[in-house]
Amino acid sequence: MGRATRSIQNSFESCMSSCMDRVDRCIKYIEPFLAVAAVGLVLLDVYSFFSFIVSRIVSRSGSAAAALHTLWALWLLFNVIWNQAHCTLTSPGTTTEVHEQALQLAMTHSWRWCRKCNRGKPPLAHHCSVCNRCVLKMDHHCVWMANCVGFYNYRFFVLYLLYMWVGAAYSAAVHWAYVPGLLKLDEPGGAGMLPFFMFVLSASVWLALSALLGWHVWLVLTGQGTIDYLDNSSREAEARAAGRRWVNPYHLGAGANWRETFDVHGRWWWLAWVLPTRRRKLGNGYVLPQVDPGGSLLGAMGSAALPLRSGTAAAGSGSIGSGNSNFV
Ligand SMILES: [Zn+2]
Ligand SMILES: [Zn+2]
Repeated sequence: MGRATRSIQNSFESCMSSCMDRVDRCIKYIEPFLAVAAVGLVLLDVYSFFSFIVSRIVSRSGSAAAALHTLWALWLLFNVIWNQAHCTLTSPGTTTEVHEQALQLAMTHSWRWCRKCNRGKPPLAHHCSVCNRCVLKMDHHCVWMANCVGFYNYRFFVLYLLYMWVGAAYSAAVHWAYVPGLLKLDEPGGAGMLPFFMFVLSASVWLALSALLGWHVWLVLTGQGTIDYLDNSSREAEARAAGRRWVNPYHLGAGANWRETFDVHGRWWWLAWVLPTRRRKLGNGYVLPQVDPGGSLLGAMGSAALPLRSGTAAAGSGSIGSGNSNFV
């Protein structure tokens, strides 16, 4: 009876695994179309802006105002396309891209082992079943980007959300303000289907992105990724049940988390994080800066150290903590 149950269980698991493999393969085929569709809808919105909005701004507020609106719309468009393209085309960083020896040198007792990649799995790295590789500091696999979002391209993802959020609000507002008869679809004198569609789409996208962007801003400020948030929540609950307090070792402080995520430093960091850049993010994604339970910043080992740019950083002199057992 026990053997029969185990056999049924094994068959069920292998069936589920083969189904999941098929789903992953389907996602891999479908996601490029979704990424192109996202760009297509943005361009359609731009077409609607130049067809219905600009001429009305000229007649109502003058050419100077129309020029300012056009510059602003083009700046938003540029940043949306720039960040989406870079998020899609930049590798998030995987363990298979790292030289095996470097990975072994950095490995500590707290690392897990990925049997699929046959390599050590650094803290905050996760195996993506769609990409079939371990992604460094993986946040999630994004079908709209047709890529995994991880250590090297997370900042492009958040900036894409930010510019899409601002752009969607702007689009909905100007369609509402400058298109007369926007909602009168069937009546004579109505604006037509396209501006109405773009208004509804922009307002809906803005609403959805308000939640998604807010979520990611909170994650950045608290030094977590989407997957890690779930792990951290269960560690926190376990610690609480045992009468202890769990501290996220990768939470360096809100400002330091922000600078580390967007890879900005210096006196203009508060402005630089929002500007487009092609520079590859500093650090390696498998040795990450963290704080010990006492609150002091731990560096990383040797030359593979993630450069710590905070004024309180103790680069190269610290140790790597377990990442999973920061209880106080
Ligand atoms: Zn793996
Ligand atoms: Zn992936």
